[in-house]
Amino acid sequence: MHSNQNLLGRFAPSPTGPLHMGSLIAAVASYCDIKQKGGRWHVRIDDLDPPRTAVNACTSILQTLEAHGLISDLPIIYQSQRITAYRDALNQLMSYAFFCTCSRKQLEHFPVYPGTCRNNKERLENTSIRLSVGEQKLACHDLVLGTQEHELGKVFGDFVIQRKDGLTSYNLATAVDDAQEITHVIRGQDLYPTTPIQLLIMQRLKLSPPTYGHIPVLTYGDGRKLSKQTLAPAIDNGLATSNLIKVFTYLGMPVPNTDEWTVEQLLQWGIGNWDLSKVPSKLRPYSA
Ligand SMILES: [Zn+2]
Repeated sequence: MHSNQNLLGRFAPSPTGPLHMGSLIAAVASYCDIKQKGGRWHVRIDDLDPPRTAVNACTSILQTLEAHGLISDLPIIYQSQRITAYRDALNQLMSYAFFCTCSRKQLEHFPVYPGTCRNNKERLENTSIRLSVGEQKLACHDLVLGTQEHELGKVFGDFVIQRKDGLTSYNLATAVDDAQEITHVIRGQDLYPTTPIQLLIMQRLKLSPPTYGHIPVLTYGDGRKLSKQTLAPAIDNGLATSNLIKVFTYLGMPVPNTDEWTVEQLLQWGIGNWDLSKVPSKLRPYSA
């Protein structure tokens, strides 16, 4: 495998709780994908939203990654420490942005933002900031889902880039961070709807987007996604090898002769055998 230091993949969990099998699948997929290309892998903690950030979740997530041999090649980035970068980006976007005074209640019956405050260019206290989307169509190229065109105005409307409480929106922070040095984003399809929004932000900031691949998400038999809300069980670090074997099986790459493999051997096997085209279009349902 040749080294290609310019290529950088990432795994960017929100520290709302411990990793579950669904998040481990995304971590392993992004790791094997970039490592097979000879690139490096980066862990970023998306901890912008303090109320949602569970105490000890960061430590727990990093311990689980380490137990499964998933070590960041670069120092871990915390979004909570990158506020200046996001503020700079926000300032650059202000010519396309406006201050929105609408309450949640005022907007609840509109499928997309109706444009009420679009001419509001004067800074006011306790307002959110929205980006004007206009008539723009945007094509998303995806290694798994192919190319799809999105009419942002019809699907999303003018979206929030800074919340009323002053916090940078998830999409602005993620767009800024993924466009910096990241070349490949392999993540779950639950995040696909955020991609056109993030691409528009990157375009307006004149940043080059990474290559995207959105893999199917792990669900229970009834179709619900594994998440903290659906009480997905935390990964047991003591079962790292069997967890990795399960992950590769979900991803359509069953490990042969699984006896006595170490975590490192399993990951090396995974890197060598990684093939995005083998990932099933729907993962088989989760079973504990
Ligand atoms: Zn408004």
